[in-house]
Order: sequence, then C-alpha cells, then structure tokens
Amino acid sequence: MRGGSIAVVGGSIAGCAAALAASRGGAEKITVFERADARLRDRGVGIALHSDRYDELSDAGYVAPEMPWAPLTRRVWSVRDGEADHGRAIGEQPFPFRAYSWGSLWSELRRRVPEEVTYRSGAVVTGVEPDDDGVTLRLADGHQEHFDVVIGADGYRSVVREAMFPGTDATYAGYIGWRGTSSDVAGLPSDGHDAHNIVFPGGHCMLYRIPDGLGGELLNWVLYTAPPRADGLHPDLTRPTSLPPGRLNSELTAYLRALVADNFPPYWAARVLRTPAETTFIQPIYDLEVPHYTSGRMALVGDAASVARPHIGGGSVKALQDANALEAAWRAGDSWKEVLESYDAGRGPVGSAMVALARRMGSAQVENTPDWSAMDQPEFDVWWQDQNSGSDRRSGFGGHSIKAG
Ligand SMILES: Cc1cc2nc3c(=O)[nH]c(=O)nc-3n(C[C@H](O)[C@H](O)[C@H](O)COP(=O)(O)OP(=O)(O)OC[C@H]3O[C@@H](n4cnc5c(N)ncnc54)[C@H](O)[C@@H]3O)c2cc1C
Repeated sequence: MRGGSIAVVGGSIAGCAAALAASRGGAEKITVFERADARLRDRGVGIALHSDRYDELSDAGYVAPEMPWAPLTRRVWSVRDGEADHGRAIGEQPFPFRAYSWGSLWSELRRRVPEEVTYRSGAVVTGVEPDDDGVTLRLADGHQEHFDVVIGADGYRSVVREAMFPGTDATYAGYIGWRGTSSDVAGLPSDGHDAHNIVFPGGHCMLYRIPDGLGGELLNWVLYTAPPRADGLHPDLTRPTSLPPGRLNSELTAYLRALVADNFPPYWAARVLRTPAETTFIQPIYDLEVPHYTSGRMALVGDAASVARPHIGGGSVKALQDANALEAAWRAGDSWKEVLESYDAGRGPVGSAMVALARRMGSAQVENTPDWSAMDQPEFDVWWQDQNSGSDRRSGFGGHSIKAG
C-alpha cells in the first residue's frame, strides 16, 4: 500500500509513533491533530520500559539510545517495620527496566516524526464521520477535512473509538494512582539502581529515579489505593477524567498523606511527604478493551485501543508496538482492507491479554492485598507467580515480546 492521506488524532506517545509508522508505510500525506499546545508536553512523570522490549523497539527504529534513561536492575518490596528507617524487605526480584521521564521520551519520539508530517498543536477533533472511502474529521475551530484513513491515538477518552464503537468507554477500576516527582533523589539506596515498592494493606507505591531530561535526575513515585467511599474522599470517576495539580481536593490529599505517614517506613514516608504539591497529581485507574482495533477506515493505537492498569509497566511499550505492527501490516498489505484486517488480527489479542494480566495484578496488589507483613521471599515468589499465570501461561509483565505477538 503506497500513498493516501492519513490523519492521526492525538500526538502523544502513540500518536508520534503512529505518524512515524504511516510515513514508513508509505503514506503520502500525514496530519497529526493534537489538542494540547506545546507547553503541556512537559509532563515530568516516569515511564519504565522493560529492557528486552526496548531492544526490540530499538531494532524496529521506534526508540533510540539518545533518549535519556536511567537503568533499574532490581525491585525491592518492603513493609513498614516499626521505626526501622527503610522498613523490612519481604521480597526482591529482577527488574530489568529502563526508567524514562515521559517528557523526554515524548520529545525524542516527536523529533523522529519526519518533517513532511504536519503536526498541528492546539487542534481539537470534535467529530469523526466515516463514509465508504474514508473519514471526515471535524475540528473545534469549525474546519473539516476528509482522509483516506484515520488513526485514533487519542487516549482513553478517544473520539475516534466513540465513532467506531459507540459507548465503549474506559471503566473506573475503583482506585486511583497518586503520582509525584521531586528532586529528592540524592542518597537513594544502591545508588538508585533499585526500584522500591512499598506495600501496605490496600495498596502499594512504586518509587524509582528517572532522568529529568536536563542531565539530572528526579525521584518518581506512584501510589495506588482506593480511598474510602466517604464524601470528599472518593471523587465520582465513573466517567473517564483526571485531576491535575491544583484540583486535588484537600480532604483526599490529607487522607493520602496520613496513609503514607502511618504505613510507610520512615525513610520513604519522608520522601513522599516532602514532594512539592505542584508536582503531585491524581490519575484514576481504568480498564478498557475494544471489540476490534479497526473498523472501516479507522484504526486505534495505544490507550485509545486498550488500557491496562499500570501495574504491568507496559502501556507505552504496547503503544509503540501497535505502531510497529501497523507499519508491518502497511508494508505487507495490498489494500486498506488487508492492512487494517491484518493489524487488528495481530494486536487485538495482545491488548486483551495485557488488560487481563493488569486486572489480576491490580486485584492482588490493591483490591485484595495479602498480609504482606507475614511474607518471606519464598511466599512472595509464589504470590507473584500466581498473578502472572493467566490462561495463556505467558507473563506479559513489562509487555509481550513483539515476536510472540
Ligand atoms: C499512573 C500510570 C503509570 C504508568 N506507568 C507506565 C510505565 O511505567 N510504563 C509504561 O510503559 N506505561 C505506563 N503507563 C501507561 C502509559 O502512560 C500509556 O499507556 C502510554 O503513554 C500511551 O499513551 P497514548 O499516547 O496512547 O495516550 P495519551 O498519552 O493519553 O495521549 C492521547 C493524546 O491525544 C490527545 N487528544 C485526546 N483527545 C483529542 C482530540 N479530541 N483531539 C486532538 N487530540 C486529542 C491528548 O491531548 C493526548 O496528547 C502508565 C499510566 C498511568 C496512568
């Protein structure tokens, strides 16, 4: 398949990768529509990529060594143990991940989008209208444009998905991720090469260093828990939404701070509690699956197609692999029908497997937590293995291999 006009809705990680895929696939005219203006691209949160998945994506040309990263080698799971500063480790596991900051990963991907691609910041798509030979996009500024194919890379609240499968929304998992970054990175145990997971009844908190994109490093953390369903504590999140800094209500913040003070080893509690309010925010956790990754002349990539709870550390990998699979289908197919059918057949099952694994991990690590404090390493290993063994017996932690599909 050569030629054709392609629109990519959303210009984040999945969107930049999809534009690259379309260009390599041979599309003639590619336009990316991104709602945010350039300033909003500066999010400092961490993204961890499994090293094996990185190697595959690097071979495929979607990531590159110049993207700043910090190596992680081991993950240590700890509980509070009285006043012991670092608590007590209940389990350790290999953790071969590369830690990125979202902003620098995105910037490098954006830089790789070829110059002939038109990237329109501040362009909001409000309508998606398919017909027999393509799709018309309507924009908030009143313009409309017709394309041969539209790729929805517009995240978990996708307007493209709504046009493909009306009413297929992300569903709230019942708990939140409270995230923060701070410059409080000096003196981390083992020079920061370990990721730390502080576990407590009803949740856990991952902490690891990330590059700040300016030659230094930041401490990145994300705490998952279900606040009690009391007034002011549990926001109404039945419809997909997010609560940026400043909109975090004071009752919820006070609840989370008390939870950290009571349940974290003192060393880690201090680091979370010292994080400035302006660099903390809340992301509700969602699940999303679609019946198909394509419909007519429309295709979905990244979080628009499926959202797996972040415990599996594989969302960005999946987004980049989706783009890579689209490129491969494009190169092999002789018609749009062939390209899109082959893409759907390849990626649909991977998306479903990741969502299922992430649900099991969310259940084990947040919704139905064990008595962590009674665990030792052998018990920890059995507990971890239980979450991993789905019906297909493949783990998928950190994302599935491209080769395995
Ligand atoms: C708490 C948390 C931790 C995570 N940790 C990890 C991790 O460690 N490792 C990992 O691999 N993944 C992680 N993920 C997942 C990862 O962030 C995403 O899966 C990945 O970034 C893919 O995002 P995306 O590009 O598909 O969607 P998004 O980043 O949501 O991008 C969608 C884009 O579309 C734009 N858009 C939306 N609607 C419109 C419209 N109508 N018109 C124009 N533009 C529009 C938006 O502005 C946005 O830029 C985590 C996620 C969460 C919530």
